[in-house]
Amino acid sequence: VADRLNGIQENVWVELIELAKEVKPVNLGQGFPDFAAPEFITKALRDALKQPDIFLNQYTRSYGHPRLVNALSKLYSKLLCRELDPLNEILVTIGADEAIYCTIMALVNPGDEVIIIEPFFDIYEPVTKMAGGIPVFVPLRPKKTHGPISSADWVLDPKELASKFTNKTKMIIVNTPNNPLGKVFTRSELEMIAELCKKHNVICVMDEVYEWLVFKGSEHIRMATLPGMWERTLTIGSAGKTFSITGWKIGWLYGPRELTKFPQLLHENCISSCATPLQEAIAVGLEIENEHMGTPESYWRDLVDTLEPKRDRMAKFLTTVGMAPTVPEGGYFMMADVSEIASKIDLDAETGMKDYRFVKWLCRNKKLQGIPISAFYCNEHRNLGENFIRFCFCKEETTLEKAEQIIMDLK
Ligand code: GLN
Repeated sequence: VADRLNGIQENVWVELIELAKEVKPVNLGQGFPDFAAPEFITKALRDALKQPDIFLNQYTRSYGHPRLVNALSKLYSKLLCRELDPLNEILVTIGADEAIYCTIMALVNPGDEVIIIEPFFDIYEPVTKMAGGIPVFVPLRPKKTHGPISSADWVLDPKELASKFTNKTKMIIVNTPNNPLGKVFTRSELEMIAELCKKHNVICVMDEVYEWLVFKGSEHIRMATLPGMWERTLTIGSAGKTFSITGWKIGWLYGPRELTKFPQLLHENCISSCATPLQEAIAVGLEIENEHMGTPESYWRDLVDTLEPKRDRMAKFLTTVGMAPTVPEGGYFMMADVSEIASKIDLDAETGMKDYRFVKWLCRNKKLQGIPISAFYCNEHRNLGENFIRFCFCKEETTLEKAEQIIMDLK
C-alpha cells in the first residue's frame, strides 16, 4: 500500500450505510432527501438524452460542460457582483467531494498546515493527510448548555483561532452552513477569519454546498464577496444539495484563475471530464432557477419553506424526550444531545465511543439511524462529540412520523 494511505481509516459512511442495508431502519443517517427531485431537473435530463444531438452522449470539456460553466458563471457573477470567467474560474467535479479532494491535493504541500474547524465534514482530514499536510483543529464550542440551543450558540474563540495560524499555515477550510451543526457563519465571524487569512497569507476554502438551505433569520454570506478575499478563496458548491439530486454526484468550485488552475490540472489528469448529460441537465436547472430567483416559483425558496417545518417538528420531538437538539440555522441536519438517554441504556453489546454505540444500538434495536458526531472531530477531540448524534430531516412527513414515534417511545 502507498505510504499516503497510512493511518487513513474506513470512514463513518461505509460502516453505517452497510448497517442500514442490513437492518433497514428509518434512515435519518446519510444526508439525502427521500422525496422526489424537482420535475424540471429530471425532465431536463430526459430531454438531454432525447436530443438528436449525439454529442451529449460523448465526452465534454474537461473543466466543465460549456453550458454548465456558463450557467454557473451567470449565477455566481450575479451573487458575487463580479464577472466570473466561465473557462478559467470554474471547475465542475464529481460531487463536492472531488472538489475538496482536488483543491487540497493541488494546493497543499507536505508539511503545510491546514486549519479545520470542528465539527467538520469528515473527509477534510484524510485528504489533508494524503497530501502530506498537517491538519490543525479548532473547535466550535457551545456558549450555553441549558435551554434551547441554536447553532448560532456554537462559536469559535477568536484568540484560540488566531493562535492556530503559523508561518506554515497554507489553508483554512470553512463550511457554512456547517455539516453537521447547521451553523451559518455570520458576517462578523467570516470577517474575523478573513482578517487572519490576509494577515498570514492563507488560502480560504469555503465549502458552501448548503448555500440555498438557510432558514428565516439567517443569511448566507459568501466569503468571496468580502474585501480582499476573492483573490485567496476557492468556493465549493453542489448540484446534489442544490437540486436534491445527491446521486448525480456533480459539484463545482470557483475562484480566481491563479488558484483554480491547479485543481483544474489535477482534475484533468484523473477524472478527465464529468458526465455530459448530467451537466447539461443541471445547466438547464440553473438557467431556470436563475430566472426564478427571489420569486414564488423559486425551487430554492420552496425547498427552504418545505424544510423549515420539518426542522421545527424534529426539534420539538427531540426536546420532548430530553434529547436536547441544537436547532440549525441552515442545512438539513440536526444534532441532538443523547447523553441523558444513553446513560439509561445498556450499550455494552456495541463497540466504539458512546455516540457510535448509541447509534448502532438505536439502529439495531429501534430501527432508526443517525450519525455519531465524534466522526466529525479529530481523534484528540473526539470526546467533544461523543454526547451527540446527527439526524437528517430532509425527509417525507411519513418518514419523520415514524422517526418521531421511535424517539417518543424511548422516553
Ligand atoms: N454529505 C452527506 C452527509 O453528510 C453525505 C456524506 C457521504 O455519504 N459521504 O450525510
